[in-house]
Amino acid sequence: MDIDGVLVDQWQELPGSAHAVQVLRAAGVPLRFLTNTTSRSAESIRQALNDVGIEVEQSEVFTAGIATATYLKRTYGEIPCLFLNDGPRDDFEGVTIAEPEDDSARVVVIGAGGPSFSWSNLNVALRCVLAGADLIAMHGSRIWNRGGFCLDGGAYITMIEAVSGARATTVGKPAPSMFTLGLEAIQCSAEEAAMIGDDINSDVRGAQALGLTGVLVKTGKYRATDLVIDDGQVGPDFVLDRFADVPRWLSSITET
Ligand SMILES: [Mg+2]
Repeated sequence: MDIDGVLVDQWQELPGSAHAVQVLRAAGVPLRFLTNTTSRSAESIRQALNDVGIEVEQSEVFTAGIATATYLKRTYGEIPCLFLNDGPRDDFEGVTIAEPEDDSARVVVIGAGGPSFSWSNLNVALRCVLAGADLIAMHGSRIWNRGGFCLDGGAYITMIEAVSGARATTVGKPAPSMFTLGLEAIQCSAEEAAMIGDDINSDVRGAQALGLTGVLVKTGKYRATDLVIDDGQVGPDFVLDRFADVPRWLSSITET
């Protein structure tokens, strides 16, 4: 499941979600928590969830940072990666990080946008990409709300793509990496798993593309237009009012 807009809203529990997590655990359902958040580490997310009564282990939380770190280690090994990310580095253990002025880096990684992004360090990233470096997006989000709308990492990705002609590889949802990590962790196939989220594209369609059951909850960023399906698009497999309805839904579909 996704976290923000599903279990919590601005780190306050959405009614009934803590209890629903307990019920699912008691029923022996393996759970993993997948979030595109890059501004907090998995440990800080565990703490924030535990503070509002949602019991989660750090190892059950997969952030876009963890998914990116896993991807970088598997794909590039020891090759130094240039990072632009306004967030903690806790989830990047084992990744070789290039010096901030290294314009010969062969991998450029862009995460959460923020005050540490500057004309100078964006130019270093641009020079690397122009020289052939791979461009990696921790997630694709271009805008976020931080007491007013702000440019997020995806906006800088779009800019560097436009200027260089390069195409970024996105690691966070809706790309497959994060869902694959979750499935590997619970050792089950896509067909045996469901993804529950409030984002019709990042959560639901991203998971459905891999063969998971896609469940949309009507909380968080959900809007009624999410259920208007254009040609060639798939709708969610199930729509629930809120996460608290998940245990009842799950027993209703597994009884038969
Ligand atoms: Mg969400």
